[in-house]
Amino acid sequence: MEKILVSIRVRPLNKQEASKGMPWKLTPNTINLTAGPSASAQTYTFDRVFGTDSKTRDIYEAHTKKIISSTVRGFNGTIFAYGQTSSGKTYTMRGSQDEPGIIPIAIQDVFRNIEAESNREFLLRVSYMEIYNEEIKDLLAPENRKLQVHESAERGIFVAGLREEIVVSPEQVLQLMDAGEAHRHIGETNMNVHSSRSHTIFRMVIESRDRGEDDPCERDSLQTSDPVRVSHLNLVDLAGSERVNKTGAEGTRLKEGTHINKSLMTLGNVINKLSEGIEKQGGHVPYRDSKLTRILQPALGGNAKTLIICNITPAMIHVDETRGTLQFASRAN
Ligand code: ADP
Ligand code: MG
Repeated sequence: MEKILVSIRVRPLNKQEASKGMPWKLTPNTINLTAGPSASAQTYTFDRVFGTDSKTRDIYEAHTKKIISSTVRGFNGTIFAYGQTSSGKTYTMRGSQDEPGIIPIAIQDVFRNIEAESNREFLLRVSYMEIYNEEIKDLLAPENRKLQVHESAERGIFVAGLREEIVVSPEQVLQLMDAGEAHRHIGETNMNVHSSRSHTIFRMVIESRDRGEDDPCERDSLQTSDPVRVSHLNLVDLAGSERVNKTGAEGTRLKEGTHINKSLMTLGNVINKLSEGIEKQGGHVPYRDSKLTRILQPALGGNAKTLIICNITPAMIHVDETRGTLQFASRAN
């Protein structure tokens, strides 16, 4: 089990927040609170802390790039964006007009890495799914609702009926993502923002085989070349982690919030068990307690490489939620 990497990204204060200032002090590896009753009570330490003027490119270069190149070489990789609504998860993962996100940069890089592996032949498939209230919806084929997770000896754990499109260029992948994005479930809370109340998993399955063009005698001696490799790259934009009571939720919103809390708590538990090496010792990892962790199970344990980018808003009014995010992040590290 590789160490799970945890980074923090602090988004800039927006116009309304700016007048109150930013109560957090950052160094490249630490963050701590400098104002209010619990100021300086705790310093949180992570693999990296990216400040308000950081670029998505910096985050990509720091940890993601390596994960992407290893998925092309046959390792599973998963990158999560965690944080409360409006903390910058989607900005980080998908990007904006100004800055491409981790997903488009990663897609370009997968294709670049593949070009460099000239003695292997690749087949790439993408899928894009949403988990809303513990129901799995296919964003590439929205008529496929309430998909089920199955397990078989042949296929392992898989989402039955999920569409997988074969892709041959980065442009094609981005078009599929845009089409899928239009089918995302968007809700409105009384925090007065459109917030995503669902998790999305963008997955690329990377399959490659040895072209076998070299001399067979020589090939026998090349012990590094496996005939077929299959790996998963999961890029996950999680639902907002804010506690449900804060948004004054009732009915639908309350139900959504309860599902989100439970699945994020399960994710935290799974990651915590993995980082403590429980799985290796044959212990129980509660993958089955949520759809999110069940779907990601094949790509989280074993020799998988995992990065969690915890997004926080530095504003004074969000100090409690930010502390919640830093606690989640600390348990994962
Ligand atoms: P989330 O997906 O966590 O709900 P968003 O990614 O939608 O949050 O970000 C909320 C707002 O903040 C958006 O208007 C977004 O453009 C802006 N924003 C987030 N992170 C940054 C950043 N690093 N730099 C500039 N603007 C950002
Ligand atoms: Mg979002």
